[in-house]
Amino acid sequence: MTGYFFWREKIHQDFGHAYKVELVFEEHNLQKVQIFKNQTWGYFFVLDGIVQFTERDEYIYHEVITYLPASLLKKAPETVLIIGGGDGGVLRELQKIPGIKKILQFEIDRIVFDLCRKYFFRLMGDYSDPRVELNFVDGLQGLKESDTDAFDLIIVDCTDPVGPAKSLYSLEFYQEIHRALKPDGVFIQQASLPAYFPHVLKLALQASSVFPWFDIARVYVPCYGEELAFILGAKEKKDPTNPLQVYYGKYYHPGLNKALFTLPQTWLNLVERRDSELNKGTVL
Ligand code: SAM
Repeated sequence: MTGYFFWREKIHQDFGHAYKVELVFEEHNLQKVQIFKNQTWGYFFVLDGIVQFTERDEYIYHEVITYLPASLLKKAPETVLIIGGGDGGVLRELQKIPGIKKILQFEIDRIVFDLCRKYFFRLMGDYSDPRVELNFVDGLQGLKESDTDAFDLIIVDCTDPVGPAKSLYSLEFYQEIHRALKPDGVFIQQASLPAYFPHVLKLALQASSVFPWFDIARVYVPCYGEELAFILGAKEKKDPTNPLQVYYGKYYHPGLNKALFTLPQTWLNLVERRDSELNKGTVL
């Protein structure tokens, strides 16, 4: 540990978030990995200069990205694909859902997994679970080699499209997700912070031309400093405010669906649509 100093998360040229930290670990391979310790947020994980999660509020993100799509399924999920998620937080929440038979994961960076197992093992799911198969491979590549109609749930817990995640915000990627999803299946992907990085949600909107049912949800995760967007897609129409599967977490409960799928006008303007047009599958 190096003693305390101020580290700045650079959001824009002239704006960022400052944290008084101790540096725990730093290395630059495929991605620049930094682990810091801070009194308010605890240990937190940074990739390519952007905060990925903190000990203090990671459960909000991991519960919503897992339970929200699962709540829209006609029956409890049996086969799940995680793309990214090397910190193991999504696996932890999935392993609380009864009835799952198979969990396949494609994480591109083994270093993320190894470091999270060392410094964030309490937050990680159980990778010795025989239902779990973890592959250190690019998500798009792994997806292309996956079977058709194979997954009830596909959870894309990836970084923003700056480094290796660029391929995960492409039309080809969304078409492959569509092919691999079961007829009743649901897909979710983090789409960053529209107030700071609106271009990411715009990129992710390509998925709306692939999925007959497409929607956007939002959640406030305090350590990000702004609301985070998720995109969701399915081959069949879903009623997002009427959850069919019921899950309760420290943060998530079924009554939240309505709020999570109610978007501010700024986001509606961002995606150039009015509420009523969205579920008509309008190609934007
Ligand atoms: N909560 C975070 C967020 O909202 O930005 C995401 C956290 S998770 C640590 C992101 C993971 O995506 C990282 O482990 C990273 O290595 C992985 N990742 C990035 N690009 C990828 C790709 N092309 N295929 C598979 N995993 C990828």
